[in-house]
Amino acid sequence: MTNRTIYLDANATEPLRPEAREAMLAALDTLGNPASVHGPGRAARRILEDARETIAALFGAKPADVIFTSGGTEADVLAVKALGHERTTIFGATEHDAIRRAPIMGSILPVHGNGVADTAKLETFLEEEERRCLVCIMLANNETGTVNPIDTIVPICRRHGARLHIDAVQAAGRMPVRIDELGANSLAISSHKLGGPAGAGALLLHDVHKFGPPLLRGGGQEGGRRGGTPSVAVIAGFAAAAEAAVAQMDNMKRIAALRDRAEAVAIAAGAQVYGHLLERLPNTTCLRMPGVKAAQQLIALDLENIAVSYGAACSSGKSESSHVLQYMMVRWQEAEEAIRVSLPWNTTEADIDAFCDIYPRVMERLRRTAKPASAPKAEPAQATTPGPTNVPTDVPTDAPLARTGADA
Ligand code: PLP
Repeated sequence: MTNRTIYLDANATEPLRPEAREAMLAALDTLGNPASVHGPGRAARRILEDARETIAALFGAKPADVIFTSGGTEADVLAVKALGHERTTIFGATEHDAIRRAPIMGSILPVHGNGVADTAKLETFLEEEERRCLVCIMLANNETGTVNPIDTIVPICRRHGARLHIDAVQAAGRMPVRIDELGANSLAISSHKLGGPAGAGALLLHDVHKFGPPLLRGGGQEGGRRGGTPSVAVIAGFAAAAEAAVAQMDNMKRIAALRDRAEAVAIAAGAQVYGHLLERLPNTTCLRMPGVKAAQQLIALDLENIAVSYGAACSSGKSESSHVLQYMMVRWQEAEEAIRVSLPWNTTEADIDAFCDIYPRVMERLRRTAKPASAPKAEPAQATTPGPTNVPTDVPTDAPLARTGADA
């Protein structure tokens, strides 16, 4: 056991960056409400607008097209509501629950066995759909880190007059993300996923001439697109963290090398990796240890002061098997043996030395003492073939487009 916590759960939340702390502390004593016209109000407004300009410049939008929200979930739901107004929504099967559970009538776009969105099926769907569509696709997956082929998806959407919303919550700050270069109509980002404080995020727009009804009308803040007094200090921290993350993007090469070292040791210890050979986030690996439940792995590693998570631990206390792996057609029982290791921006060599020392020992012990697997639960409709690891991007899926109801 190490006597300090080795935090490897960055995709749940990143450690606060010092630049964000500093910016927040400087803004905390600002007195006014940015909507007020007096001096203190104008001072608060200046901080807010500076943050807006920073976020706009970093992610390729105009300042007027940056809508501050409470986080990634709200940015995603606002996109679905306001850009999907009077349109049919279609979203990737492995999207985060922020999108999957948005209050919409939607259709699910299948993914290949490796988790990458099936673009041929998207083309077919858009051809067949009579109404105009909003397509919601994540740039990088929160559980496997897999990156979607946005450059293929954009022309398909354009050909069919569909709008495209990209959930870039996990990608922003870890890989280049600019809405103007991606060619999307909207983009969701979140402060606490790039080293800022929790409680802020943004929906960025590009080429959106009609914005449907907002989620919150309130006092008409954010140009009438998101009511409610903005949290000026939190937003100042968000902008400072984003600036630091983008300026220090080279750090991600270091993080990728550390991730690869940890992953190689895990593979040597008997782990399988989902998404191994694909373009992935530099900090993420999804590791399956055959025969050992993820919950046991998590607890055993936690007792050794190593913090990792189930597939999608950003939903608190969540312990059910991951929908991401299920849609990748990984068998139920195997999906329940997968953990996510995600390195924060400040991971050190010593952290990974400790992981490489502890993980093989812990897994060897757990495998020795593991009970034989109980009978698997009923498998979900699409999880019908063995879960592929390290598969190429052209693995076909014959899964049909599935319609979902309001609480998909
Ligand atoms: N989208 C993705 C891909 C995520 O991973 C998350 C959170 O983990 C969200 C959206 C929600 O972001 P937030 O926690 O800021 O609401």
